Amino acid sequence: MLKRIAVMTSGGDSPGMNAAIRAVVRVAIHEGVEVWGIYNGYAGMYEDKMVQLDSRSVGDILQRGGTFLGTARCEEFRTTEGRQRAFENLRRHGIEGVVIIGGDGSMTGAELLSDLGIAVVGLPGTIDNDIWGTDYTIGFDTATNTVVDAINKLRDTASSHGRVIVVEVMGRNSGWIAMTAGLAGGAEHILIPEISVNLDELCEKLRQSHDSGKKYSVVVVAEGAGSAVEIGKKIVDCSGLDTRVSVLGHIQRGGSPSVFDRILASTLGEHATLALISGISNVMFGSRSGGVVTIDLADAIGHKRTIDPSMFRLANLLSK
Ligand code: ADP
Repeated sequence: MLKRIAVMTSGGDSPGMNAAIRAVVRVAIHEGVEVWGIYNGYAGMYEDKMVQLDSRSVGDILQRGGTFLGTARCEEFRTTEGRQRAFENLRRHGIEGVVIIGGDGSMTGAELLSDLGIAVVGLPGTIDNDIWGTDYTIGFDTATNTVVDAINKLRDTASSHGRVIVVEVMGRNSGWIAMTAGLAGGAEHILIPEISVNLDELCEKLRQSHDSGKKYSVVVVAEGAGSAVEIGKKIVDCSGLDTRVSVLGHIQRGGSPSVFDRILASTLGEHATLALISGISNVMFGSRSGGVVTIDLADAIGHKRTIDPSMFRLANLLSK
């Protein structure tokens, strides 16, 4: 049974990270375990920026996006010396285990940290939903709801003017946000990195649907599939249709977490903390078919998360 643990957020922020930190802190304290917060991810571990937290430290954060501990990217942690220094900082404070909330890069760092002899448990925190082993990552639901809200608004103006609207969404190399928000938002076309699309054919389809009476079209582009500005230009060139581009950007990373993300973060946070305290290490907690699952960190980082082709097919079918 561990007596002192720490929690941190790392990599890109995502709505629901605060809910996860809150769960870790309060479950640990309930179990009689001391809990510390590490600021700015591996950077704070490396620079020894960490403090003991109590239940009040995590008050008033559940409803807030972002992460009150801060998050960062830390190049030093990629080196053996950097990780050793971070590990020694933890050891000096008597910290025996860490809950690391972040994306796949952060999970890779977590596994390397555990090699040095400290217990580590991961929680998938990223808007991109690109981590293998879990159906959903913390923040994805909120981000896709933000995108769908934006698509709804863009539809109003596209409809009024009879335009093509090209919306660029985040997701790094993954098409999950584009595909899910595209299906939920009724996009006519969805461009994702996992499936290549011929732009000339896309133009032809837009032209045909315009000629057959569609008043307007929404094209959702995942950032990993190309630049919406470039794709918008191409559509104008090859179809002549009145086209506008909207790059949603960092608005997708902010905002109050959805109910789904709060429940996911709280539930996974509880499981991760109880496991870590009991001595379990080197795993990530995730959600599959509505239940909580444990995934070996090596598996989570060793596999590539793929998209669900049936969702993509359905989005295409329903947008005709
Ligand atoms: P995310 O966790 O959102 O995928 P990054 O890929 O930027 O974000 O990873 C966050 C941090 O995790 C990095 O800044 C680095 O400190 C650490 N990290 C990522 N990959 C590695 C690696 N291969 N070895 C060691 N540390 C890593």
